[in-house]
Amino acid sequence: MALKVPVLSTRAGLVVGVANQRSIAWAIARAAALEGAALAITYQNERLEDNVRKLAASIADPFIAPCDVTDDAQLDKLFEALEARYQGLDFVVHAAAFAERPDLEGRFSDTTRAGFQKAMDVSTYSLIALARRAAPLLERTGGGTILTLSYLGAERVFPNYNVMGVAKAALEATVRYLAADLGPQNIRVNAISAGPVKTLAASGIPGFSTILDTYRERAPLRRTVTSAEIADVALMLLGPAGRPISGEVIMVDGGFHAMGI
Ligand code: NAP
Repeated sequence: MALKVPVLSTRAGLVVGVANQRSIAWAIARAAALEGAALAITYQNERLEDNVRKLAASIADPFIAPCDVTDDAQLDKLFEALEARYQGLDFVVHAAAFAERPDLEGRFSDTTRAGFQKAMDVSTYSLIALARRAAPLLERTGGGTILTLSYLGAERVFPNYNVMGVAKAALEATVRYLAADLGPQNIRVNAISAGPVKTLAASGIPGFSTILDTYRERAPLRRTVTSAEIADVALMLLGPAGRPISGEVIMVDGGFHAMGI
């Protein structure tokens, strides 16, 4: 009988966006580690360091480093450390997003210039900043995958999602442009557009529980998704099965996106 070989064994990846045990990034990291991947995990600042170190203690030999994705110097330092530690990288998971609280409620037309720039910088530009630095390391392993997380608010209007919807629309366009740019280096770039999951980031969106209820009522599967299910699809994209897929936004939302009303 053939033994099952873990799909990500001998692979090394960087995961950005773990805040706590509810983070989608953590679900993906844990699943990838269980499949044998060696992982570098970053935390945004000292406030989260303890959390991330405690979580990472459950996986084998993680590399933990700070990385505020809006800070070029920190990004450079992170990639210097990754260069020193790994022969190359096989995947990068980008799961960071942020908008100021006042920009996640009230009228979208009240979004401030500073709030718009902040949301776009953390949630969208950071993918470009990471991809540029990761490309040489991904190339060294013969290519690899960059994966980010989006939401249907990129395409349709959800109450209070506001500037984050615009940032996600730009993020999905960024996925396509990066895929075109990096494809010749055999680097694939994709997004998972996930259904709503109760996380720290989600708790910043007023009325999030109404969105959850709506998925339970109207999604074809009559429910939203779990972080573990998102992680399963992520593993497919990060592993060998994902090798022909690039420039794609995969809906992982119980079918909700298919509905008109
Ligand atoms: P989460 O656990 O709160 O993760 C968001 C992460 O982004 C946190 O680790 C957060 O750190 C980090 N972040 C914010 N600003 C950063 C910065 N300047 N530098 C580095 N990291 C920064 O929430 P999540 O729901 O798992 O979010 C992960 C991704 O999934 C996000 O892109 C989100 O938009 C997307 N997504 C979520 C849902 C959902 O319903 N939860 C659905 C679809 C897509 P701090 O906690 O310090 O801010």
